Amino acid sequence: MAASELPVVGHWIGGKPDSGTAGRFGDVFDPATGAVQRQVALANEADVDRAVLAARAAFPAWGGASLAKRHAVMFAFRELLFARADELAAIVTSEHGKTLDDARGEVQRGLEVVEFACGIAHLMKGEASEQISTRVDSASYRQPLGVVAGITPFNFPAMVPMWMFPIALACGNSFILKPSDRDPSASLLLAELLAEAGLPEGVFSVVQGDKDAVNALLVHPEIDAISFVGSTPIARHIYETGTAHGKRVQALGGAKNHALVLPDANIEVAADAIASAAFGSAGQRCMAISAAVSVGEETAAALSAAIAERARALKVGPGSADGTEMGPVITSQARDRVASYVEAAAGEGAEVVVDGRELSVDGEGFFIGPSVIDSVTTEMSVYRDEVFGPLLVMLKADSFDAGLDLINANPYGNGAAIFTADGGAAREFRSRVQAGMVGVNVPIPVPMAYFSFGGWKDSLFGDLHVHGREGVLFYTRGKVVTERWPQRAQGVDYGFPTQS
Ligand code: NAD
Repeated sequence: MAASELPVVGHWIGGKPDSGTAGRFGDVFDPATGAVQRQVALANEADVDRAVLAARAAFPAWGGASLAKRHAVMFAFRELLFARADELAAIVTSEHGKTLDDARGEVQRGLEVVEFACGIAHLMKGEASEQISTRVDSASYRQPLGVVAGITPFNFPAMVPMWMFPIALACGNSFILKPSDRDPSASLLLAELLAEAGLPEGVFSVVQGDKDAVNALLVHPEIDAISFVGSTPIARHIYETGTAHGKRVQALGGAKNHALVLPDANIEVAADAIASAAFGSAGQRCMAISAAVSVGEETAAALSAAIAERARALKVGPGSADGTEMGPVITSQARDRVASYVEAAAGEGAEVVVDGRELSVDGEGFFIGPSVIDSVTTEMSVYRDEVFGPLLVMLKADSFDAGLDLINANPYGNGAAIFTADGGAAREFRSRVQAGMVGVNVPIPVPMAYFSFGGWKDSLFGDLHVHGREGVLFYTRGKVVTERWPQRAQGVDYGFPTQS
């Protein structure tokens, strides 16, 4: 039951708020205080069905609307979002805990995908060939799929949905968003702004919920495609179940992103970059650097000392407070999980250089300080698992090749970065590293909206990455039309078509 004194975050179905029929609710915390600040309705099958039917009913008109009309809605949405960006960022900070600056950055990255989607007329253009045979012409078109669902993680409650729906909608699809139940409120502001921008009722819906809502979406016969972003075990489940039910699926999973630091790298620059990539947003970014691999003992010692110095100086506190550099993690369980990995690493023989468990912040917020764990080996659980918190493991390699082999042996392949002054080594790394997004002296190589975002190996199930050109391909399907317009009556030809 919802505790009556707390506000309830509901669904958005058929162009308006919807409180749902399930009678189940989850707690939404303020991670900076540890208090439950809201409750969120958890959808059941009937709630999901209502959203899907509204989406299906709205699809023919929206999918058939002119590109000019779809453009107009996207441009209006872009303006509204731009005007309300700070408000959206504040909502993100209050439920996720990240700093306001970080939340503003997240909104900005989402906005860039909206701007990309404003150019959809160009992006959906097909190709044409005249006279492929006598008086025969061919043209290709891209058409929307129908009803698409997006299932998103807690760590970017505004940006990850905006990796998906601006392009899906601009391509002419209806879209149902199932946000994380940890920070559900951003999705409702996005829904309101889309409605205000003139998006017809039913084209965009939000169903709040947990795995019950997800499982209903996965098997619903009226859903054509699913975009998922979250942890690897769930991504695999989504991909297998969704494809088994005939849906097109892209499922982005977890990560263990490595930085390879060569002896010729500028250690101060590398340490700044790696510390910010490891501890920014309390390490809860899928592109966070969570493993640093140094080539040679000297590099390892210098890098470890430089990063430890930065970790100790990091200002940890509520994300909304001025001067905070790192906020809390999302839940008390997440905090305890990070602490348990520090403990396990120490037990397995690693060196805990900076111990985040020693941090103390007043109150009951879900705070844990940054941890730097040195002398880590690839067998240790702190290396093998995605910890998803402010914890950096440091490993050593004897050579560039040994470092690269270590990175390529990891089952994840989201991002990877190299720090070096050697262009030849950087080029070799770029070419041979098995990761979808690669940085050269750039710690978090997140592609801009007009490129596509996605990893390799256990970091992505499916073929197409999100946003950019691949996003347009994912949310559309191709059709090639061949036309013949004889100028005069001809006899029937029963032969197989040839190019003659
Ligand atoms: P999560 O996998 O727990 O949840 C993601 C979504 O799946 C949520 O909407 C959640 O409600 C739903 N879900 C959770 N358990 C489910 C189950 N058993 N059955 C069906 N649905 C379920 O992930 P999270 O903790 O919200 O987010 C953190 C994870 O997301 C990390 O692993 C991180 O690396 C990953 N992530 C990856 C990317 C990327 O681009 N590859 C981006 C952001 C986050």
